[in-house]
Amino acid sequence: MTERVGFIGLGIMGSGMAANLLKAGFDLTVWNRTPERADALVAAGARRAATPADLGAQCAMIFSCVSDTSDVLEVILGEQGVIEGAAPGALVVDMSTISPQGAQTIAAALAERGVHFLDAPVSGGSEGAARGTLSIMVGGPADQVARAMPCFQAMGATITHVGGHGDGQTVKLVNQILVVGTMLAISEALVFARASGVDLEKTLQAVSGGAAGSWMLSNRAPQCLRRDWRPGFTIDLQQKDLRLVLQAADEVGAPMIVTAQVFQLYRALQAAGMGQEGNHALIKALERLAGVEVGTGEG
Ligand code: NAP
Repeated sequence: MTERVGFIGLGIMGSGMAANLLKAGFDLTVWNRTPERADALVAAGARRAATPADLGAQCAMIFSCVSDTSDVLEVILGEQGVIEGAAPGALVVDMSTISPQGAQTIAAALAERGVHFLDAPVSGGSEGAARGTLSIMVGGPADQVARAMPCFQAMGATITHVGGHGDGQTVKLVNQILVVGTMLAISEALVFARASGVDLEKTLQAVSGGAAGSWMLSNRAPQCLRRDWRPGFTIDLQQKDLRLVLQAADEVGAPMIVTAQVFQLYRALQAAGMGQEGNHALIKALERLAGVEVGTGEG
C-alpha cells in the first residue's frame, strides 16, 4: 500500500508539484496558509488539512515548499507545525530553498521525535513544476531517498542524491550562482544587441542552440523581449537565495564576484518597487545604465 502523502505550500511551485502528485495517483492531503489557494486541488480530489500538525497526523510522507528558512521552521517545527502531529517513522521532505544549516536544524529536531527528514530543493522554474520536469537535489539518508523516490519521480525528471542533510541546499545554492550569473550575461548581451541595432528575435534564434544556449536564455530572454515581467520566480525570493549564497560563501571563503554584483542590482530594483516581478527583470537595471529598452511589449 502506498503511504499517504501531504503537501504544504501551494504557491507558484507547490501548486504544480502537488497537482503532479495527485495526477500520479497518490492519496494527497494539502494545506496552504491562504486556504483558497488549495481549492483547485481539493476540487481535483485532494483532502484538506486544518493545520500543518493536522496534515502531519494524517500523512506518512509530508512535503513542504514555502518561502524562506523561518517559514519552513514555522510549518515544520512551530506551534501548529508538522512535528506536533507526525508519528514516529514519518518522513518530512522540505523542497523550499533555505539555508543548509536550517535544514540540519530541522533534521535534528525531527530526529528527536523519530521522524525522518530530507532536504530536496528544486530547479526548473514554474514551468518545470507544472510539467513535472524539475531537477531535484536531495540531502539525507539513502533509505529515505528511496522511500520518497516515487513521489520525486512524479514531480521531477532529474533526481540526484547529493549527500547528507543540508547538502541538497548547498547544491541548490550552486544552482543559484549559475542562474544569476547567466541572467546577468543575458541582460548584458541583449542590451548590447539592442544598442547595436541588430534584430533581437533573430539574435536569440541564432545563439540559443549554440554554445551559449541555456534554460534561462530559452525561457526568460523571450519574456524580456515581450516585456513580460510576470514572475516564474520573484526578485524578492531570488534575493533571499542570494543572501543565503553570500552568507555560505563567506563562511567557506569562496569569491562571489558576479553574484555579489547581481545582488546589488536586484537590490536597486527592489528599492524601485519591482520585488514581485520575475528575476529576468534584472535586465531593467542594465537598460537604465544604457538608456535603451529591449523588446516592445507586443506579442
Ligand atoms: P510563492 O509563489 O511566493 O509561494 C510561497 C508559498 O509559501 C505560498 O504557498 C505561501 O502561502 C507559503 N508560505 C510562505 N510563508 C509561509 C509561512 N510562514 N507559513 C505558511 N506558509 C507560508 O513562492 P514559490 O515561487 O512557489 O517558491 C517556493 C519555494 O521554492 C521558495 O523557497 C523558492 O525559493 C523555491 N523555488 C522557487 C522557484 C521558482 O521558479 N518559483 C524555483 C525553484 C525553487 P500563502 O499562499 O498563504 O502566501
